[in-house]
Amino acid sequence: MVKTFKEQFSDDERRASFERIKEALLEESYKTRKSEFYSDLAEEYKFIKDRVQKALLSIGCNDLADKIENCGRGKKCQSIWCESCRNNAAETYKNKVKKQIVAKYGSDHDEKFVSDNLLHVTGHCEVCRFDIDSLGQAIERDKIRWRKMRERNASSGIWGIATYEFELIDFEFMLRSNEDEKKQAALAQMIKQARTQGSLSQDDSHVLWVHWHGIFCATKDQIERMVGDLYHVEYDTVKNGETISVKERVKKTAESGLFVQEFHKSKSLEKNITGITSYNFKNAVRYKHTFAGSDYKGGEEIDRQDLGRLVKLYSDVQGSNWRSLYREIGV
Ligand SMILES: [Zn+2]
Repeated sequence: MVKTFKEQFSDDERRASFERIKEALLEESYKTRKSEFYSDLAEEYKFIKDRVQKALLSIGCNDLADKIENCGRGKKCQSIWCESCRNNAAETYKNKVKKQIVAKYGSDHDEKFVSDNLLHVTGHCEVCRFDIDSLGQAIERDKIRWRKMRERNASSGIWGIATYEFELIDFEFMLRSNEDEKKQAALAQMIKQARTQGSLSQDDSHVLWVHWHGIFCATKDQIERMVGDLYHVEYDTVKNGETISVKERVKKTAESGLFVQEFHKSKSLEKNITGITSYNFKNAVRYKHTFAGSDYKGGEEIDRQDLGRLVKLYSDVQGSNWRSLYREIGV
């Protein structure tokens, strides 16, 4: 029997050929994003706002583009890609935290004492598809975790205020990036979990990493007790030919599966709070990871349409005054 052209090559050879094509595609995508970015930066397109305009227009979201462009004339756009609204969002968050501090410690509180009693906590919710339905479901699932945390917290008197961040991750590219192994390990677990749950398929390489950053007035032990295993990841894996179910905490996290950090001792209370409360309201126009090169400190550019979709997604999800991005406990 005559072998087909394909059959005349070994699996390894075919795989190598496939890899070469993939590399070429990645290289091409890298160049496109880079040139788009710099053409956007050129001449009148000097600001992120202009890049966002182009991004939104490229996907036909003219209304939202107009709203952001005309922000301030009667109505604030509340997009976190708008400099003034982004600052407002961070300020709003900061004020909520400060209000709690005053309620608990009084207005003449000792800054160092308060700093020592606060924690910066990060929760990995899940990785989902880059669309509004999947994101909505992920948020709903996390809402349930917070409800359970509130029930357990009923009488302990601790408080916490967190806001979501939806970070766009290109899984294909992430696989090629060598940096931040901690983040990669956590993402790998979450992708396995999403695939096991069926909320993500092998083909979904563009994903949203849903997580939150918050400030808690609690001890580490109190957080452990309140959170339990709500933030542990669960997935199926094959071991010795058998499918087994794994439940574990996210790599490098505390027992609860959350990242729990103390406030920086060397920084003032104000600086610590400002840092955390503005963190989630960054106007991302780049990936936070780099993959094709390490020439961009802040990560590589998100392509125009994806950026447009991300800006639109936030606008659809965040609610008025960013209300839907918040989760609170004991407040
Ligand atoms: Zn605005």
